[in-house]
Amino acid sequence: MNDSEILHIIKTSDNDEIEALFTKARNAQEVYYGKSVYVRGLIEITNHCKNDCLYCGLRCSNSNLKRYRLSIDEILGCCRTGDKLGFKTFVLQGGEDPHFTAQRTAEVITAIRCEFPDHAITLSLGERPISDYELFYKTGANRYLLRHETANDSHYKKLHPPAQTLSARKKALYSLKEIGFQTGAGFMIESPFQTPENLLEDIRFLEDLQPQMIGIGPFLPQKDTPFGSFKAGSLLTSLKMIALSRILLPHALIPASTAIGTVSPNGRELALKAGANVVMPNLTPPHVKNLYIIYDNKAVLGDEAAENLTLIKEKITNTGYTADMSRGDALVKKD
Ligand code: SAM
Repeated sequence: MNDSEILHIIKTSDNDEIEALFTKARNAQEVYYGKSVYVRGLIEITNHCKNDCLYCGLRCSNSNLKRYRLSIDEILGCCRTGDKLGFKTFVLQGGEDPHFTAQRTAEVITAIRCEFPDHAITLSLGERPISDYELFYKTGANRYLLRHETANDSHYKKLHPPAQTLSARKKALYSLKEIGFQTGAGFMIESPFQTPENLLEDIRFLEDLQPQMIGIGPFLPQKDTPFGSFKAGSLLTSLKMIALSRILLPHALIPASTAIGTVSPNGRELALKAGANVVMPNLTPPHVKNLYIIYDNKAVLGDEAAENLTLIKEKITNTGYTADMSRGDALVKKD
């Protein structure tokens, strides 16, 4: 697709065009993944963060957030619960918490790897030195999620303090791929100051990086951040960007994110019908589950909760897809 075709799709409100886009995305998805929707277990291991992203409730300047971090035993407990439910992928996500040194994180990975030799371990722990990534990979982690957030430099500067740069983020992503991780990039939809041209740049960046996973979700305001009074990103633009990503990177694994389930009660189902093929219900222990407040009103009940696996599977079936509990590794791009 050329630039003006992509921009046209981003801006259109023509229902027929939008429906045709979603149909094309579903067809592209089925060529690679058939009717499978992969189910992963998400464990939010810490809400401490040294960064100060202007959009995120975990930012270090937010003194209103009660902080927690899980111990290695608690993390293993979540994995055991997930394993009993049938999960074959554990996704460990957290803020950039200095407590999780390379060594400590490697110990967590080793402990999970020893007990669950066949499961996939996905990390989403932000930007780290390349030597940390190498250690994590060597220790047994398989996948790494690190959204680029926006591929436009001046937009990136409006969302982050000067210490965080787009070039560092991109470098981390290319390094992760080179090390051998199945790598996930991604971006927020309609974050403050974003333009349709920025979204086009996001798509072009993905085409260049060729990530195995793509995380896309609407920006949602969090009241204790500088962006607390900005408008939330729309469901429609989020669905269109999922569909465009699916069509242009058909081999990617694309989650129907919690943010999309938060912006609309049937957001996840609509995302699956627009080209998403992963869901990540939450395995985080109940006593801290409500503290991972990256944005307000985050969905934590119903199909967000791992213990409601029957409901989750039922919802996937109702969209015309099948819940697939296998590891669901990324497929290699066909030429
Ligand atoms: N520290 C890790 C990182 O930066 O990749 C993982 C945790 S971070 C909270 C996970 C993702 O949450 C970010 O990549 C960002 O896209 C998303 N996020 C943070 N604040 C958000 C907001 N207000 N609205 C929507 N998504 C948000």
